[in-house]
Amino acid sequence: MTRNSVDEFSLISRYFGDVGRVSGVFAENSPVILGVGDDCAILRSPPDQEICLSIDTLVSGVHFPHSISAYHLGYRCLAVSVSDLAAMGAQPVAFTLALTLPDNDPVWLEGFSRGLSEAANQFAIRLIGGDTTRGPLTLSLQVHGLVPTGMAMRRSGARPGDLICVSGPLGDAGAALDFLHLENSTESTTPAIHYLLDRYFKPQPRLALGRLLREFASAAIDISDGLLADFQHIAEASQVGGVFNEVLIPLSTAIKAVAAEKALSLALSAGDDYELCFCLPEESLGQLEGDPLFDSVAVIGRVSAEAGLRMIRTDGSEQVLAPVGYQHF
Ligand code: ADP
Ligand code: MG
Repeated sequence: MTRNSVDEFSLISRYFGDVGRVSGVFAENSPVILGVGDDCAILRSPPDQEICLSIDTLVSGVHFPHSISAYHLGYRCLAVSVSDLAAMGAQPVAFTLALTLPDNDPVWLEGFSRGLSEAANQFAIRLIGGDTTRGPLTLSLQVHGLVPTGMAMRRSGARPGDLICVSGPLGDAGAALDFLHLENSTESTTPAIHYLLDRYFKPQPRLALGRLLREFASAAIDISDGLLADFQHIAEASQVGGVFNEVLIPLSTAIKAVAAEKALSLALSAGDDYELCFCLPEESLGQLEGDPLFDSVAVIGRVSAEAGLRMIRTDGSEQVLAPVGYQHF
């Protein structure tokens, strides 16, 4: 052990023992019976609820740039994992973290733990265990959430005629990729670039909207790989197609200012936004429209019985779309 390093067990308790501990609507009657420190964590399964589980692995240089600050990595890794719970309409409860680290640099660990804790408190999710190993920087997070029995939103329920909706502007995180080197230079960035960087480094999983939608939406997914690629998953699972309307695709002021020519293509095909894409029977729209959580939602098209994706262009012409998005292999 070098002077500035910490041994494995004090590392775990110092940086990971309390992440998200005081947070949550469940703080009083938490489903977490036992957290970090034993051979297993223990969770109580509440009656009338089902457990939603999801795991995500993030590899340095693949899912985030090598240069990312420890703080942003801590925040972002949890935000993107929790987004899967938002897509199901689940309430976050707890997560485990398998962390592979090249070294145990206390400055890095402090920043990572701070970002992770900020996200854990914001999303009301507690770190209940994990694994720590040495190797190239890689993170796996398994998130656990709860949903009332039978209420989780799946990809498979979309019906022809349903409205296709998204929870906010698209393409911002993709537009940020050209500016990631400005991550920590607050002075040299314009407000538009700052906004785009924030969308990339601190995605905001749509948890409250997801819970609202589970009574109404016929299908939902979070957009991690791009609108078309992710909607295609709904289309396949539901055996439907989709017709999008170009003028209705929501674009932020920032993306229009910074990347005007490629804004639409980023909105359709770039990933990392972690907005929700969901399908809604038209008659539900009236019940949702007044809700503040629905303010940022845009209706962008309609589910079709015919397979495949099409786009009505601004000039009224119709174009057949090839699903393109982030390909993992
Ligand atoms: P075991 O050998 O029994 O698997 P470990 O020595 O790997 O236990 O871990 C000891 C305790 O610390 C366990 O409760 C485990 O869940 C927790 N832990 C290990 N690494 C992490 C981490 N990165 N984040 C949170 N908890 C962790
Ligand atoms: Mg053990």
